[in-house]
Amino acid sequence: MKEYKTSQLRNLAIAAHGGAGKTSLAEAMLFDSSELTRLGRTTDGNTCLDFDPDEIKRQITISTSIGHCEWAKHKINILDTPGYANFIADTKASLRVADAALVIVSAISGIKVQTEKIWNWASQQELPRLIFINKLDRERASFERALGDIHKGLGITPLPLQIPIGSEQNLQGVIDLLQMQAYFYKKDGSGKFEKKNIPDQLQEEADRYHLKLVEAIAETDDELLAKYFDDEPLSSEQLQSALREATVTCRLVPILCGSALLNIGVQPLLDAIINYLPSPQQRPEAEGLSPDKQPRTRGSRDSDPFSALIFKTLVDQHIGKLSIFRVYSGVLECDSSAYNPNRGKKERIGHLVSLQGKSQKAINRVKAGDIAAAVKLKDSETGDTLCSEKAPIQFPPIEFPEPVISYAITPRRKGDEDKVSMALHRLMEEDPSIKLSRDDDTQEILVSGMGQVHIEVIVERLKRKFGVEVDMHLPHVPYRETIRGSAKAQGKYKKQTGGRGQYGDTWLEVTPLPRGTGFKFVDKIVGGAIPRQYIPAVEKGVIEALQGGILAGYPVVDVQVTLYDGSFHSVDSSEMAFKIAGSLGIKKAVSAAQPVLLEPVMDVEITVPEDCMGEIIGDLNSRRGKVAGVEPRANSQNIHAQVPMAEMLHYAPELRSMTGGRGVFSMKFSHYEELPFTLSEKIIARAQAEKEHEKK
Ligand code: GDP
Repeated sequence: MKEYKTSQLRNLAIAAHGGAGKTSLAEAMLFDSSELTRLGRTTDGNTCLDFDPDEIKRQITISTSIGHCEWAKHKINILDTPGYANFIADTKASLRVADAALVIVSAISGIKVQTEKIWNWASQQELPRLIFINKLDRERASFERALGDIHKGLGITPLPLQIPIGSEQNLQGVIDLLQMQAYFYKKDGSGKFEKKNIPDQLQEEADRYHLKLVEAIAETDDELLAKYFDDEPLSSEQLQSALREATVTCRLVPILCGSALLNIGVQPLLDAIINYLPSPQQRPEAEGLSPDKQPRTRGSRDSDPFSALIFKTLVDQHIGKLSIFRVYSGVLECDSSAYNPNRGKKERIGHLVSLQGKSQKAINRVKAGDIAAAVKLKDSETGDTLCSEKAPIQFPPIEFPEPVISYAITPRRKGDEDKVSMALHRLMEEDPSIKLSRDDDTQEILVSGMGQVHIEVIVERLKRKFGVEVDMHLPHVPYRETIRGSAKAQGKYKKQTGGRGQYGDTWLEVTPLPRGTGFKFVDKIVGGAIPRQYIPAVEKGVIEALQGGILAGYPVVDVQVTLYDGSFHSVDSSEMAFKIAGSLGIKKAVSAAQPVLLEPVMDVEITVPEDCMGEIIGDLNSRRGKVAGVEPRANSQNIHAQVPMAEMLHYAPELRSMTGGRGVFSMKFSHYEELPFTLSEKIIARAQAEKEHEKK
């Protein structure tokens, strides 16, 4: 396979909200650069980059696909990222290793919250960007409105490098505002175009935009600005070079436009990627830590010791695990080894491959700045560093967003539990935003992820890849019980029917503890009222009874239990008898100490468009939520609130319908709070009814 110098590489993440046209555009880029012989369509399910059956079924990108193409003697690595909140973890990982982002804005739907989020991540990383206004061929498309959306939604002054020729069905091509030339396209998707003079009716508009562009570029460079004020002509080479500098340093974001579907404007976009976006060498050096935690950096040089970050793991049915990494420095050869400082292990590097959608090509080595995959690494996971053993460095891990929703998962077939758990662990290798836990109350497996669709995809994959069928249901809310007051009670167990009897007698006191402290057992027996050897049995009886719940079957927390008196029988007493006595005593004591139910309260962050604020806040109030603050953002509002978990189980689809899909939210556990009386009565009644039902 052809090798490229680091200066000839571009690592590009394509990002935007779902449906903006990322996959279609990436596909057109591969087609125009002759990587593909046929232009696939997401609606036909035949694209090179969305190849996963779940992606084809839903017509969305679920996981970042990786492809590459050659353009003007450069290699562009394309990371086609998922735009839906459900799969955003992968987008974050791709932005981490990319050197630039291409943000797609739909000329129909504008900027959605998801695009804003991605934009903010890119800004935090100081990632150079281009914008492509897509779908200009669609009915009701508007270039001007899209520019307005970019201004409002992303908070930047739009800087078009092109304007469209015609619009909607009449879209014919684009005008390059730097060269002042028109590209007229064929409408057959072939990407064929003719360069012509700017049509008369667009000359004035093109001149106006050209002037704005020249001014904006000149302002970034003192020398150019001086010439500009002296009315000296600025050559397009001078302007291009200053625009490159300004784009690479994130001072300007050039805007291009066209139609991914009709393959209009794609070659000028490829040109712009080469001309204005940085090679790995023009990015700041990668920062990491040496084994003794000293800061170290690595620049994109083949001659430096090898270092790379694994940003994605795929499990391919035929060749096994693929660890996809970006090289920061040095060269990695196949049939060699690399050190993984995260695991403290040396990895054998057998095969190396380059990826084009689902197909792979074996390569002999991968050089500084490039992206490739290693086959069948034993211990390495997404987020790990690979480096030279002689010069170890560890890059910071990739930060994945916290899961927002959990579902309980139960196998359809009895006995499949181990298989399900093994399969879920395999899926987690590919998708680090999945979290697994076990519900202590019900012993069910809880799968947490970024949203309902995320969990649905996991369930489908369990079936398709591992042949296990599971049902998913919303987890029970993990209520807890506690007491408001103190009480004392006797627990006595006495049985004297034939043979040896049973005797245990305890006096217990319960007192409330502060929220979150759990359980404390205090032994205040003096003078041998209960022999020492029976006291652990009392404690065991108490703990078991508290775990089983007293009001409604939920664990009792935040109580102190003091064993302060009791009596025994020299023949009939036993550990068993004291355990039962402890259990009887604690039930009586808790029942007498004003028991109440506690519910989990979540910290919730919701980002919604401004026009939905009123409805969202009203809705939060009806969910017993407390709004803690509202933060204005570029084109939206960030609401912080605390809401009981029980009220948030179905929030994702409801938020979607209230905001027309424009709202996003995340939540995490905050604390337990007392449940209002009327609600707790209902839960207690339901628990009693279930108990009765079980007895029958
Ligand atoms: P992604 O989710 O951002 O990857 O978007 P896709 O590339 O899957 O496109 C979403 C939908 O928009 C598909 O039905 C595409 O055919 C359609 N689409 C994408 N680009 C264009 C375009 O330029 N014009 C029109 N009319 N439709 C487009």
